[in-house]
Amino acid sequence: MLIANWKSNGSKAMAIDWFKNFFDKYSFKNHETFIGIAPPFVYIDQINSLKKSNIKTGLQDIEPFSGARTGSISANMAIDLGCSFSMIGHSERREFFKESNDQIKEKIINLDKKIIPILCVGETEKENIAGKTKHVIQNQLEIIKNHELHDLFTVAYEPVWAIGSGQTPQAEEINEIHKFIKDVVQSISTNNLVPDVLYGGSVTDLNAMSFFEQDFVDGALIGGASLDGSIFADIVNIFNGTKNK
Ligand code: PEP
Repeated sequence: MLIANWKSNGSKAMAIDWFKNFFDKYSFKNHETFIGIAPPFVYIDQINSLKKSNIKTGLQDIEPFSGARTGSISANMAIDLGCSFSMIGHSERREFFKESNDQIKEKIINLDKKIIPILCVGETEKENIAGKTKHVIQNQLEIIKNHELHDLFTVAYEPVWAIGSGQTPQAEEINEIHKFIKDVVQSISTNNLVPDVLYGGSVTDLNAMSFFEQDFVDGALIGGASLDGSIFADIVNIFNGTKNK
């Protein structure tokens, strides 16, 4: 699974260029890799008309309830527009919008399997230096304890210090954390689900292969490098070349 997180970037003109550049470079047309684009919500309709069927659209954040939730995009609206997934608990939501683990839990639980949740977890630089990475991630995952998860429930491991910084953990360290995440989710979810785990944080076409070569890396969540359709296509091609040999 490869997800492009456009954050609050893009325009109608950019979306047209993006798909032209993507399809010029994309070379594994028959693979079944889940390719998702999470643009700002206002562009989803346009992107649905530009994309091809093997590409999915999704949200960067979601509100499970409809009605009295001013400013939010509800799960029913996402479904109405054909979205199949939503990121939940991105570190920028946690930092700038003060989303707590409790609020993130409410979203995951009340989505009620309507849409694939991609739960983002990860430690800050300070927590990393203090050796608290696993402790922090365990705590962020506790919200799904005793919950029956969507079959395609996915976790994105995104160290906060790696997002947009050009820095990343070593590929082997990422692999170890991904194994840890799979074990924790399996042991605490009601349906003992072993989730796919994506890596996110300064992934580019230059370093993607080193991550994809790791056994427990099932894909990537890509911010900055996903804004260029040609670079995102390169990353998808590298993924397919590494995992789908
Ligand atoms: C992100 O915001 O989820 C992300 C991974 O960003 P970047 O790839 O730019 O580090």
